Amino acid sequence: MRVAMIGTGYVGLVSGACFADFGHDVVCVDRDEGKIERLRNGVMPIFEPGLDDLVGQNVRDGRLTFETSSAEAVRSADAVFIAVGTPSRRGDGHADLSFVYAVAEEIADLVEGFTVIVTKSTVPVGTGDEIERIIKQRRPDADVAVVSNPEFLREGAAIGDFKRPDRVVVGTEDQRAQEVMTELYRPLNLNETPILFTARRTSELIKYAANAFLALKITFINETADLCEAVGADVQQVARGIGLDKRIGGKFLHAGPGYGGSCFPKDTLALVRTAREAGRPMRLVETTVEINDARKAALVTRVSDAIDGDLKGKRIALLGLTFKPNTDDMRDAPSLTLVPALIAAGAEVQAFDPEGMTEAAKHLPGVSFKTGPYEAVEGADVVVVLTEWDQFRALDLDRVKTLVRTPVVLDLRNVYQPSDLRSRGFRYSSIGRA
Ligand code: NAD
Repeated sequence: MRVAMIGTGYVGLVSGACFADFGHDVVCVDRDEGKIERLRNGVMPIFEPGLDDLVGQNVRDGRLTFETSSAEAVRSADAVFIAVGTPSRRGDGHADLSFVYAVAEEIADLVEGFTVIVTKSTVPVGTGDEIERIIKQRRPDADVAVVSNPEFLREGAAIGDFKRPDRVVVGTEDQRAQEVMTELYRPLNLNETPILFTARRTSELIKYAANAFLALKITFINETADLCEAVGADVQQVARGIGLDKRIGGKFLHAGPGYGGSCFPKDTLALVRTAREAGRPMRLVETTVEINDARKAALVTRVSDAIDGDLKGKRIALLGLTFKPNTDDMRDAPSLTLVPALIAAGAEVQAFDPEGMTEAAKHLPGVSFKTGPYEAVEGADVVVVLTEWDQFRALDLDRVKTLVRTPVVLDLRNVYQPSDLRSRGFRYSSIGRA
């Protein structure tokens, strides 16, 4: 099959490389010339484990190429994927669909022969209808089927998720489109991946419902953690105790600083918006958004509590800045809320993140970025673990103790054992544990 992937970001690049690896001919298109230039030179524009090798191999095998213009790729494609961003629209929280619709207009002028147009971007219910309308209006003769195929991969584990997904959701009732989509995902038959065909609107909603449910689950355990702190219980044991129940499941029950990232914050907001407009407000999701925002805003108080008071003139060492490990993605990371609040309170912030510092520097003026975790903790009044990168789990804590000004650790990811830190002479606080 010939695939054109429009938008070569976290989703487009991984999906494009994986489809190529399945044996399809893929052209990844992006309007960012710098990004395409880097990819042509074998340089990855994002950090994602394994991506370098996967892209390199498929480029060498001649199945994966990169272009700034979609013209050739779209004309010859069996399937054109739209994988551009759908960020929150400023002001109202609705998904900004301007990038998606711009691509739809571009595609309309180019398609030749029967072509499946696949929306991989996360888009609100009804977007597929609008894409279809745009294409038909510009090109009444175009023979297209517009399909929804939301992506569920996680950054940091994206290749594994794409190649071994729990399910693939395809929203179309068009027989020819179903055949093309079945062929595209045929290699997944090997792992017996369920492919769920639904109506297009249902498929669009599945993606938002999935993300909102996961955000809700995280928020539930975060609130439970706060209760644990108040009543002297241990949230990790509570999580295990409920997670072993198969009806609940153990995943997404890690208490922490609040969810962030490129999906949950914007997708929950967009779902709230869709539900309000449909006259069926989703109050659970609205409350989830409020609780999570408040949680991130209160992180600064957790830091000041850890050092018993005033942040003015205090040196704060942050370990981790990205919203989760194994990515360089800084979108809506809790650090973006915490750091400005620390600086506004007069603290001095120094930080280290294994992959996120280039991106973080664009958003966090006033932070002193360090070359490693030990450099970051030098002279600190408190060390805050904000992202659970593996390398922070195995820190030489005795060395850390000799470097800091005062041995205080605030562990927002429950990476360490309280007894271990305390026996080494640290004052230690974490999330939801006595
Ligand atoms: P991204 O910002 O990393 O990538 C989008 C890319 O599209 C950019 O490189 C941009 O230059 C390009 N682009 C924009 N307009 C274009 C145009 N007209 N022609 C060609 N290229 C264009 O975004 P992302 O994280 O890959 O997310 C893409 C979509 O996938 C979003 O809707 C997101 O919600 C969804 N999604 C993301 C993830 C994730 O983990 N990042 C997971 C599942 C779903």
